[in-house]
Amino acid sequence: MTTRRNLMKASLPLALASTGFFSLDSLLMAQPTGSSLDTYFAPENFFTDGEWKLPKLPYAYDALEPHIDAKTMEIHYSKHHQGYVTNLNKALKVMSEIKGDADPRIIEALQRDISFNMGGNALHSLFWPTLAPNDGAPPQGAFGKAIETTFGSFDNFKSYFTKVAMSVKGSGWATLSFSPVSRQIFTSTIKDQDSQHASGTHILLGLDVWEHAYYLKHQNKRGDYVNAWWNVVNWPVVEMMYAMFGES
Ligand code: MN
Repeated sequence: MTTRRNLMKASLPLALASTGFFSLDSLLMAQPTGSSLDTYFAPENFFTDGEWKLPKLPYAYDALEPHIDAKTMEIHYSKHHQGYVTNLNKALKVMSEIKGDADPRIIEALQRDISFNMGGNALHSLFWPTLAPNDGAPPQGAFGKAIETTFGSFDNFKSYFTKVAMSVKGSGWATLSFSPVSRQIFTSTIKDQDSQHASGTHILLGLDVWEHAYYLKHQNKRGDYVNAWWNVVNWPVVEMMYAMFGES
Protein backbone atom coordinates (compact mmCIF):
# COMPACT_ATOMS: atom_id res chain seq x y z
CA MET A 1 0.00 0.00 0.00
CA THR A 2 1.35 3.37 -0.95
CA THR A 3 0.90 5.50 2.11
CA ARG A 4 2.34 8.95 2.37
CA ARG A 5 4.81 7.64 4.93
CA ASN A 6 5.95 4.81 2.66
CA LEU A 7 6.26 7.19 -0.23
CA MET A 8 8.37 9.54 1.84
CA LYS A 9 10.53 6.66 3.04
CA ALA A 10 11.09 5.41 -0.48
CA SER A 11 11.67 8.82 -2.00
CA LEU A 12 13.60 10.66 0.64
CA PRO A 13 17.06 9.17 0.07
CA LEU A 14 16.69 9.80 -3.65
CA ALA A 15 15.46 13.33 -3.03
CA LEU A 16 18.33 14.03 -0.66
CA ALA A 17 20.85 12.51 -3.04
CA SER A 18 19.76 14.83 -5.78
CA THR A 19 19.69 18.14 -3.96
CA GLY A 20 22.90 19.16 -5.69
CA PHE A 21 23.03 22.43 -7.55
CA PHE A 22 20.48 21.94 -10.30
CA SER A 23 20.95 18.52 -11.78
CA LEU A 24 24.60 18.77 -12.76
CA ASP A 25 26.01 16.88 -9.78
CA SER A 26 23.38 14.15 -9.88
CA LEU A 27 23.70 13.93 -13.63
CA LEU A 28 27.45 13.44 -13.41
CA MET A 29 27.11 10.99 -10.53
CA ALA A 30 24.65 8.95 -12.56
CA GLN A 31 27.11 9.01 -15.49
CA PRO A 32 24.87 8.55 -18.49
CA THR A 33 26.32 6.05 -20.93
CA GLY A 34 25.45 4.83 -24.37
CA SER A 35 25.04 8.35 -25.63
CA SER A 36 27.07 10.19 -28.20
CA LEU A 37 27.83 12.57 -25.36
CA ASP A 38 29.72 10.05 -23.18
CA THR A 39 32.85 12.19 -23.42
CA TYR A 40 30.97 15.36 -22.57
CA PHE A 41 29.30 13.87 -19.50
CA ALA A 42 32.50 12.32 -18.14
CA PRO A 43 33.04 13.89 -14.69
CA GLU A 44 36.62 14.87 -15.62
CA ASN A 45 35.16 17.13 -18.32
CA PHE A 46 33.80 19.27 -15.46
CA PHE A 47 36.10 18.88 -12.50
CA THR A 48 39.78 17.93 -12.30
CA ASP A 49 42.67 18.59 -9.94
CA GLY A 50 40.41 20.10 -7.30
CA GLU A 51 38.90 22.70 -9.61
CA TRP A 52 35.81 23.16 -11.71
CA LYS A 53 36.66 23.59 -15.37
CA LEU A 54 34.95 24.76 -18.52
CA PRO A 55 33.59 21.55 -20.11
CA LYS A 56 34.78 20.98 -23.67
CA LEU A 57 31.93 21.80 -26.08
CA PRO A 58 30.56 18.75 -27.93
CA TYR A 59 30.49 20.69 -31.25
CA ALA A 60 32.05 23.64 -33.09
CA TYR A 61 30.93 27.24 -32.52
CA ASP A 62 29.21 27.35 -35.91
CA ALA A 63 27.36 24.01 -35.51
CA LEU A 64 24.05 25.67 -34.68
CA GLU A 65 24.08 28.25 -37.50
CA PRO A 66 21.93 29.92 -38.65
CA HIS A 67 19.73 29.53 -35.57
CA ILE A 68 22.42 30.39 -33.06
CA ASP A 69 25.36 32.21 -34.63
CA ALA A 70 29.01 31.27 -34.15
CA LYS A 71 30.07 34.59 -32.61
CA THR A 72 27.36 34.44 -29.95
CA MET A 73 28.34 30.83 -29.17
CA GLU A 74 32.02 31.75 -28.91
CA ILE A 75 31.48 34.70 -26.56
CA HIS A 76 28.78 32.95 -24.53
CA TYR A 77 30.95 29.88 -23.97
CA SER A 78 34.51 31.19 -23.84
CA LYS A 79 33.80 34.47 -22.00
CA HIS A 80 30.57 34.17 -20.01
CA HIS A 81 30.65 30.51 -19.00
CA GLN A 82 34.42 30.65 -18.51
CA GLY A 83 33.92 33.65 -16.23
CA TYR A 84 31.52 31.72 -13.98
CA VAL A 85 33.97 28.82 -13.74
CA THR A 86 36.90 31.11 -12.91
CA ASN A 87 34.92 33.06 -10.30
CA LEU A 88 33.47 29.88 -8.78
CA ASN A 89 36.94 28.46 -8.22
CA LYS A 90 38.10 31.78 -6.74
CA ALA A 91 35.12 31.97 -4.38
CA LEU A 92 35.55 28.37 -3.21
CA LYS A 93 39.24 29.06 -2.55
CA VAL A 94 38.41 32.14 -0.47
CA MET A 95 35.82 30.09 1.42
CA SER A 96 38.40 27.45 2.26
CA GLU A 97 40.70 30.10 3.75
CA ILE A 98 38.12 32.09 5.68
CA LYS A 99 38.31 32.20 9.46
CA GLY A 100 35.39 31.76 11.84
CA ASP A 101 35.77 35.32 13.16
CA ALA A 102 35.37 36.85 9.67
CA ASP A 103 32.97 39.77 9.22
CA PRO A 104 29.47 38.34 8.54
CA ARG A 105 29.15 40.75 5.60
CA ILE A 106 32.13 39.07 3.97
CA ILE A 107 30.50 35.66 4.44
CA GLU A 108 27.24 36.97 3.00
CA ALA A 109 28.97 38.37 -0.10
CA LEU A 110 30.95 35.18 -0.55
CA GLN A 111 27.82 33.03 -0.36
CA ARG A 112 26.16 35.15 -3.01
CA ASP A 113 29.25 34.71 -5.15
CA ILE A 114 29.27 30.93 -4.75
CA SER A 115 25.54 30.61 -5.42
CA PHE A 116 25.71 32.82 -8.52
CA ASN A 117 28.76 31.22 -10.09
CA MET A 118 27.89 27.64 -9.13
CA GLY A 119 24.49 28.20 -10.69
CA GLY A 120 25.99 29.78 -13.80
CA ASN A 121 28.41 26.91 -14.25
CA ALA A 122 25.73 24.24 -13.74
CA LEU A 123 23.12 25.84 -15.98
CA HIS A 124 25.53 26.46 -18.86
CA SER A 125 27.07 22.99 -18.50
CA LEU A 126 23.59 21.58 -19.03
CA PHE A 127 22.65 24.07 -21.72
CA TRP A 128 25.34 23.12 -24.28
CA PRO A 129 24.51 19.40 -24.65
CA THR A 130 20.78 20.13 -25.01
CA LEU A 131 21.59 22.02 -28.22
CA ALA A 132 22.02 20.41 -31.65
CA PRO A 133 20.34 20.90 -35.00
CA ASN A 134 17.05 18.99 -35.00
CA ASP A 135 14.70 18.06 -37.81
CA GLY A 136 11.62 19.51 -36.15
CA ALA A 137 10.41 16.13 -34.95
CA PRO A 138 8.76 16.21 -31.51
CA PRO A 139 10.37 14.40 -28.55
CA GLN A 140 9.87 10.64 -28.58
CA GLY A 141 9.45 7.79 -26.12
CA ALA A 142 8.52 8.13 -22.47
CA PHE A 143 9.51 11.80 -22.38
CA GLY A 144 7.40 12.53 -25.46
CA LYS A 145 4.46 10.86 -23.69
CA ALA A 146 5.09 12.90 -20.53
CA ILE A 147 4.97 16.09 -22.60
CA GLU A 148 1.65 15.04 -24.14
CA THR A 149 0.16 13.96 -20.80
CA THR A 150 1.25 17.13 -19.03
CA PHE A 151 0.71 19.76 -21.71
CA GLY A 152 -1.84 18.14 -24.02
CA SER A 153 0.44 18.15 -27.04
CA PHE A 154 3.96 19.05 -28.10
CA ASP A 155 2.68 22.14 -29.92
CA ASN A 156 0.90 23.30 -26.80
CA PHE A 157 4.06 22.76 -24.78
CA LYS A 158 6.01 24.85 -27.31
CA SER A 159 3.57 27.76 -27.05
CA TYR A 160 3.43 27.47 -23.28
CA PHE A 161 7.20 27.21 -22.74
CA THR A 162 7.79 30.12 -25.12
CA LYS A 163 5.51 32.24 -22.91
CA VAL A 164 7.37 31.06 -19.81
CA ALA A 165 10.65 32.20 -21.43
CA MET A 166 9.11 35.55 -22.41
CA SER A 167 7.82 36.05 -18.85
CA VAL A 168 11.30 36.19 -17.32
CA LYS A 169 11.94 39.77 -16.24
CA GLY A 170 15.52 40.86 -16.87
CA SER A 171 18.07 38.02 -16.81
CA GLY A 172 17.16 34.44 -16.10
CA TRP A 173 16.23 31.01 -17.36
CA ALA A 174 13.12 29.05 -18.28
CA THR A 175 13.34 25.42 -17.24
CA LEU A 176 11.54 22.13 -17.58
CA SER A 177 12.20 19.86 -14.62
CA PHE A 178 11.36 16.40 -13.29
CA SER A 179 10.34 15.62 -9.72
CA PRO A 180 11.39 12.11 -8.64
CA VAL A 181 8.79 12.23 -5.84
CA SER A 182 5.68 13.20 -7.82
CA ARG A 183 7.20 11.88 -11.08
CA GLN A 184 5.79 14.95 -12.79
CA ILE A 185 7.47 17.31 -15.18
CA PHE A 186 6.93 21.02 -14.59
CA THR A 187 8.13 24.38 -15.83
CA SER A 188 9.81 27.00 -13.73
CA THR A 189 11.84 30.16 -14.08
CA ILE A 190 15.10 31.11 -12.45
CA LYS A 191 15.99 34.71 -11.63
CA ASP A 192 19.55 35.36 -12.84
CA GLN A 193 21.21 32.00 -12.24
CA ASP A 194 21.17 31.47 -8.52
CA SER A 195 21.16 27.92 -7.35
CA GLN A 196 17.93 27.97 -5.37
CA HIS A 197 16.05 25.68 -7.71
CA ALA A 198 13.40 23.38 -6.20
CA SER A 199 15.50 20.98 -4.16
CA GLY A 200 15.52 17.37 -5.21
CA THR A 201 14.20 18.01 -8.69
CA HIS A 202 16.15 17.66 -11.91
CA ILE A 203 16.33 20.22 -14.69
CA LEU A 204 15.89 18.37 -17.99
CA LEU A 205 15.91 21.41 -20.24
CA GLY A 206 16.95 24.98 -19.60
CA LEU A 207 16.66 27.98 -21.87
CA ASP A 208 19.07 30.85 -21.21
CA VAL A 209 17.24 34.13 -21.75
CA TRP A 210 19.98 36.44 -20.57
CA GLU A 211 20.60 39.09 -23.24
CA HIS A 212 24.14 37.76 -23.69
CA ALA A 213 22.55 34.63 -25.23
CA TYR A 214 21.00 36.53 -28.14
CA TYR A 215 21.81 40.25 -28.25
CA LEU A 216 24.48 40.09 -30.99
CA LYS A 217 22.08 38.52 -33.47
CA HIS A 218 18.63 39.52 -32.28
CA GLN A 219 19.28 42.67 -30.19
CA ASN A 220 16.23 43.20 -27.98
CA LYS A 221 14.01 40.67 -29.78
CA ARG A 222 13.98 37.78 -27.31
CA GLY A 223 11.00 36.22 -29.09
CA ASP A 224 13.03 35.75 -32.29
CA TYR A 225 15.76 34.01 -30.30
CA VAL A 226 13.31 31.69 -28.55
CA ASN A 227 11.73 30.78 -31.90
CA ALA A 228 15.19 30.04 -33.33
CA TRP A 229 16.10 27.97 -30.25
CA TRP A 230 13.27 25.49 -30.95
CA ASN A 231 15.23 24.47 -34.08
CA VAL A 232 18.26 23.42 -32.08
CA VAL A 233 16.85 21.57 -29.07
CA ASN A 234 18.60 18.21 -28.78
CA TRP A 235 15.56 16.09 -27.82
CA PRO A 236 17.43 12.76 -27.63
CA VAL A 237 19.56 14.17 -24.78
CA VAL A 238 16.48 15.48 -22.95
CA GLU A 239 14.81 12.07 -23.45
CA MET A 240 17.94 10.36 -22.11
CA MET A 241 17.98 12.48 -18.97
CA TYR A 242 14.28 11.91 -18.37
CA ALA A 243 14.78 8.16 -18.74
CA MET A 244 17.78 8.18 -16.44
CA PHE A 245 16.13 10.14 -13.64
CA GLY A 246 12.77 8.44 -14.14
CA GLU A 247 14.30 4.99 -13.75
CA SER A 248 16.45 5.77 -10.73
MN1 MN B 1 24.32 32.43 -20.49
